[in-house]
Formats: sequence, structure tokens, C-alpha cells
Amino acid sequence: MNLVLLGPPGSGKGTQAKRLQKRLGLLHVASGDLFRENLKNDTELGTEAREYMVRGKLVPDALTIDMLRERLDRPDITTGVVLDGFPRTLAQAEALDEMMASTGRALDAVLSIEVPDEEIVGRLSGRLVCAKCQLPFHQTFNPFKSCPSSECEGEHLYQREDDRAETVRERLETYHRQTAPLVDRYQTRGCLLRVPGVGPLDDVTSACVEALDRFLELR
Ligand code: AMP
Repeated sequence: MNLVLLGPPGSGKGTQAKRLQKRLGLLHVASGDLFRENLKNDTELGTEAREYMVRGKLVPDALTIDMLRERLDRPDITTGVVLDGFPRTLAQAEALDEMMASTGRALDAVLSIEVPDEEIVGRLSGRLVCAKCQLPFHQTFNPFKSCPSSECEGEHLYQREDDRAETVRERLETYHRQTAPLVDRYQTRGCLLRVPGVGPLDDVTSACVEALDRFLELR
């Protein structure tokens, strides 16, 4: 099964993608994580992407699409993928259709995680993420000093450069202008599942799984 998670920054796509990865045995591929990995490794792509990321802008389509194509071509994708943060523009959505078709795969469903803008700013400006696994925490609502996951062994948490309040507003604006139109595109295609992204994380995960179950049964 191949899924896309759509939603504004801070809607919980990363958290839910990690949970769906476990529940459904899919591989989680997050475009933001791929860019941050490039940044950390000081690659040419990382240097180029940083310019856009720190301003809350989208990295140009050509760079993003090439990076995703390379990732989706790797042989570790067996049962399917849950894409988080890609596609974010119409050109990327078209490229994804082409990538899927050329590898004999199909996009089964798109989950749109819906969270109001007012909630996003509070969530992101207090967010801390694990430097190793990128799992998000929150200074007030989910306070940890280091990552509690056994694989990360107390790795430190940090605030992403683009989680500062001014950049968060820019990222939200970018989302509404460039990414939100994809919701209509997938709705028209008949594979969009809307899920409320507010409330306990477990409830959001259950809503995702139930929406998927219902949709796959009806197909
Ligand atoms: P994220 O971790 O998904 O919030 O992404 C962090 C930043 O990486 C975004 O604000 C963009 O600058 C960049 N980015 C991630 N995914 C994409 C994408 N699909 N297209 C363009 N830029 C992206």
C-alpha cells in the first residue's frame, strides 16, 4: 500500500507517519528529513535547500523531485511507502504519479490531517525534535529533556531553525498557497480521506486507520 500524508506543517504528519509505518509495515519517507540529512552531511543539495528552508519557502521542484525519485528507486521499499511532506506542489504531485507508474506502483490513498492555523503556531513554536530520529516533543505539552526512545539512547532534542514563530507563519502561508490545492486534486480523484488532527495522538492514529480501513473495504 502506498500512502501520502497531507497537512499543514505541525499537523502531526511525521508522528502519524511513524505510527502508520509500524501499524501497516510501510516505509516512512519524509522529504523534510531527507533535506535535513543532506544539511547535516554538508552536501551540495543540503546547502542549496537550506536557503529556502530557513525562510519557510519550498525548495524548488526540480531538486525535490530528483531527491524523491532517487529515494523511491532504492530497493528497501517492499510492501509500500507512507510519504510525509511530499508532494507539496502540483508539479510534485504530477511527478509522483509518473514515479509510481514507472515503478508499477499505485497511490492508494491520501490522508489529509486537518488542524486550524491558530493551533499550528502554538504547536510549532514549542516543538523540539530528536536530533537522531526526528521524533517531535513539545516544551509544554510533551516535555522531555532527551529522546526516550531506546534506539536513540538519550539523544538531545533541539528546536528546528524553521520552527521560529516568524518562519512558522511563512510556512503556513506557503502551505495554503501551494499545497492546499492538492487536497482538491485528490478529492476529485476519489482517494482523499480527511482526518481531524486535533486531540490525543492515539485518537488521530485511530481515525487514520479507520478511515483507511473503510476506504479500502469500499473500493
Ligand atoms: P518539513 O519537515 O516537512 O516541515 O519540511 C521542512 C522544510 O523542508 C520545508 O519548509 C521546505 O523548505 C523543505 N521541504 C520539505 N519537503 C518539501 C517539498 N516536498 N517541496 C519543497 N520543499 C520541501
